[in-house]
Amino acid sequence: MTMQNIIGLSREELERDFTDAGIPKFRLKQIWHWIYHHGVRSFDDMPNVPKELRFKLQDLYTINRPEITKAMTSADGTQKWLLKFQDGEEAECVHIPESVRGTLCVSSQVGCTLTCKFCHTGTQKLVRNLGSAEIVGQMMLARDAFDEWPTPFSNRLVSNIVMMGMGEPLYNFDNVAKALKIIMDPEGIALSRRKITLSTSGVVPMMDRCGEEIGVNLAVSLHAVRDDLRNVLVPLNKKYPIKDLIDACRRYPGVNNANRITFEYVMLKGVNDTNADAKELVHLIRGIPAKINLIPFNPWPGSDFECSTPDRIDAFSQIVQRAGYSSPVRTPRGRDILAACGQLKSESVRQSKSLLKAS
Ligand code: SAH
Ligand code: SF4
Repeated sequence: MTMQNIIGLSREELERDFTDAGIPKFRLKQIWHWIYHHGVRSFDDMPNVPKELRFKLQDLYTINRPEITKAMTSADGTQKWLLKFQDGEEAECVHIPESVRGTLCVSSQVGCTLTCKFCHTGTQKLVRNLGSAEIVGQMMLARDAFDEWPTPFSNRLVSNIVMMGMGEPLYNFDNVAKALKIIMDPEGIALSRRKITLSTSGVVPMMDRCGEEIGVNLAVSLHAVRDDLRNVLVPLNKKYPIKDLIDACRRYPGVNNANRITFEYVMLKGVNDTNADAKELVHLIRGIPAKINLIPFNPWPGSDFECSTPDRIDAFSQIVQRAGYSSPVRTPRGRDILAACGQLKSESVRQSKSLLKAS
């Protein structure tokens, strides 16, 4: 029998397992607390659990994190971890420290099946969904790295999560939902849903479920205001065009001035950055409580776009702001280690590609 990783199993799944194994229900609360509040990595470190039960649990489960095979630190303090999973496949996870918080950028897939023109991850051939354990595991690794156990009440170094790493989270909805529910569970890691933002390239039918079943903040990768251009930049637009996307944003639950939708807009020189684009943008989202995050394009090896000039970005931002929307320009973080938005790609695949070229 292969042993199962206890990390990533929902409370409901564990309740069923425990009932089947004849383990009293109150033990689940204790064990959950050890794993997700204290971060223990062994059943031996659970002193209030009787020895016989610990042996039984050891026969049933492991407590496994992904392995960090490479850690890089940027000049600005951003850290990027290359993670290896049990089957040898890899994904990246990034921690971005800020003055009053620290944001963890979590991957949902190895690679991405979508092929946004400006994104490095989209060029990666190898794709699979990450399991819930592999998603929760990224948070736990980060907490290990900062020695942030037990769960602190305040001043966390890993205080926010953005599902903005590799992959399209709404193409792996079940595992992402399960993982985020574990991360939000008040008896464990206890991260509030307000501290979690899920970014989608616009998988319209799943946006409703995301709002209803997970309830986290939503970020939408808009990047263009006309279908002809968005069809090219974000090819998923051919399936779910801008109108449908904006309608889904309008009905996203829980949106108000305190909880706004974020529209992400990558600034591509000469492509989507005119004053007319900015005006059309504010027209398009009129009435939606929103902020517009302008992302300077981050180059990667082989990319064929350029970032808009600072003056252009500023002019674009001014128009959006004058229309009453906040439009912060996202400071690129970790560019020197290819950890910034859209630069992630598993090292192993990159290497094997260059080997192919050499042969
Ligand atoms: N797949 C999801 C989440 C991951 S990408 C999505 O697309 O929303 C996180 C953000 O980085 C997205 O808004 C994405 O469009 C943007 N991005 C991708 N490549 C980029 C690049 N090279 N420079 C700047 N932003 C980029
Ligand atoms: Fe995938 Fe997002 Fe990159 Fe598009 S931008 S290829 S959806 S990871």
